[in-house]
Amino acid sequence: MTVPTEICYFVAAILFMLSLKWLSSPKTARRANFISMFAMLLAVVPTFVQRVGATTGGALVNNLVIIGGGIAVGSVIGLVSAYRVKMTAMPQMVGLYNGFGGAASLLVAGVEFLYKTQQRLGLSVPESVPVHLSIIIGGVCFTGSMAAFAKLQELITGRPILFKGQHVLNLALLLAAVGLGAVLTMDPLSAWHLPAFIALVAISLLLGWLVVIPIGGADMPVVVSLMNSYSGMAVTTTGFVLRNNVLIIVGSLVGASGLILTNIMCKAMNRSLANVMFGGFGAAPTAAPVAAGAKGAVKEAGVEEAVMVMENASSMIVVPGYGMAVAQAQHAVRELAGLLEKRGVRVRYAIHPVAGRMPGHMNVLLAEANVPYDQLFDIDQINDDFRNTDVVLVVGANDVVNPAAKNTPGSPIYGMPVFNCDEAKAVIVLKRSMNPGFAGIENELFVHPTTMMVFGDAKQTLAKMAGILKGA
Ligand code: NDP
Repeated sequence: MTVPTEICYFVAAILFMLSLKWLSSPKTARRANFISMFAMLLAVVPTFVQRVGATTGGALVNNLVIIGGGIAVGSVIGLVSAYRVKMTAMPQMVGLYNGFGGAASLLVAGVEFLYKTQQRLGLSVPESVPVHLSIIIGGVCFTGSMAAFAKLQELITGRPILFKGQHVLNLALLLAAVGLGAVLTMDPLSAWHLPAFIALVAISLLLGWLVVIPIGGADMPVVVSLMNSYSGMAVTTTGFVLRNNVLIIVGSLVGASGLILTNIMCKAMNRSLANVMFGGFGAAPTAAPVAAGAKGAVKEAGVEEAVMVMENASSMIVVPGYGMAVAQAQHAVRELAGLLEKRGVRVRYAIHPVAGRMPGHMNVLLAEANVPYDQLFDIDQINDDFRNTDVVLVVGANDVVNPAAKNTPGSPIYGMPVFNCDEAKAVIVLKRSMNPGFAGIENELFVHPTTMMVFGDAKQTLAKMAGILKGA
C-alpha cells in the first residue's frame, strides 16, 4: 500500500467511527449516513486507483471492464431495491445484504486459496488461518442470512423447523469445518486439498442454513443483527487475507456493533441470545397466561368519543408499534398530533427499543413523517411520566404495552421492560381486532378499566379523527 492510500484509509476509519457515534441519535443519523458514504468513497477510490495503476496491458482493460461492470450492476440493483422496498420489508433487505457481504468474503478467500494452491505457492499459517476463517464465517453468514430472508419473506415457514439431534448435528458440522480448516492450514498443497476445500465450503454453507431454520420467523430481526456481526467478522478476516487495513478496521466495527445491537435487542425482550438461538420460540402457539383478575370487559369506543378525550387532555403520549408500520400510519399520526398541539395538548412519543420488527423501526417511520426529534423519548426517559399523563394513544402496539410483562410471572414476556400505559388517566388503543401481537398472548391493557379500544386500520382511524378535529 502506498502512503497516500494508507492516509485515506486512516481518515476513512476515523469517519466510520464518528458516523457510528452519530447514528446513535435521530438528530445526527442523517449526517452519519452522509459521512459514512463519503468514508466509503475515500476507502474505495484509492484502492481502485492503486490496483488499476498496478495492472498493465490487456489485463488493465479486462479489469476495468469487470470492475466497472460490477459497480454498475451493483449500483443499479442497490438503487432500485432501496427505492422499492417497503418499510415493513426492511429487515429482510438488510438480511439479504448481510448475506452478500458473507458471500463476498467467502469468494475472496476461496480465490486466494485456489490461486495459491494452483500456482503451488502454498500458504503460510498467518495466510491460511484468515482464509479458512473467511470461508467458514462468510459461508455461515451467507446461508444463515438467506434462511432469515426466506423466513421473513415467507418463502419458507416462519415457524421453527426442528428435528431430533439438530444441535448435535450443528456442533458436529462446526467441528468438522474447524478440523478441515486446521488440516488445510497444516498442509495446503496435499494431494487431497481440493476435495477438502470443497467439503469445507459445503459444510460452512450447510451449517449457516441449519443454524437459522430452528429459529422462529419473528425472532429473525435478532438473527439478522447477529448475521450483520458475522458479516463484519468475515470482512475483518478478508482484510487479513488481502492485507488491507481499512477492511480490518471496518469489519471489526461492524462485527462489534452488530454484537452490541444483538445484545440490546435480547435485553429489551428479556431473553438471552441462547434462548433466541436454541429456544424454538414460536414453535407452537403460546399458552397465554393472563394475570388473575385481568380478564375484564373490553370497552369499545367510537372515533368521536376518542377525539373528545384527546381534545380535553393537556398531555398525550403516543406509543407506536408494529401496527403503525403495517398501516403506514406515521403521517396520519403526525397530522393528528399537530391538530391536537394547536389546541394546546402537549404531545410526546414513547419509543420502545423492540417496537416493530427491527431496531429503530419506529424512529425511522416517525422521522419520515417529520416528527420533531425532541418529541421522541426512550422507555427510560418517559416511563415514569405515564402516571402524570392524561391520555395515551397506542397505535398498533401490543406486546410493548402489555402489563403482563410486569404482573404475570410465567408469561412469555414476563420481565420485558414495557410502557406503564396502565398508569395514565386514559388509554386509547388503535388496532383492528383483539388478536395478539408477536408474543401470541392476551394483553391485560386491553381490558383495563381506563382503556378504550377503537377498532379499525390505524391509518383510517387516525384520518377520521383528524377529520373530526378539522371540522370542529
Ligand atoms: P406487536 O407485534 O406486539 O403487535 C402489533 C399489533 O399491531 C398487533 O396486535 C395488530 O393487531 C396491530 N396491527 C397490525 N396491523 C394493524 C393495522 N393495519 N392497524 C392497526 N393495528 C394493526 O407489536 P409491538 O410493536 O408492540 O411489539 C413488537 C414485538 O416484536 C415485540 O414482542 C418484540 O419483542 C418483537 N420483536 C421485535 C424486534 C425488533 O427489532 N423491533 C425483533 C424481534 C422481535 P390487529 O391484528 O388486531 O390489528
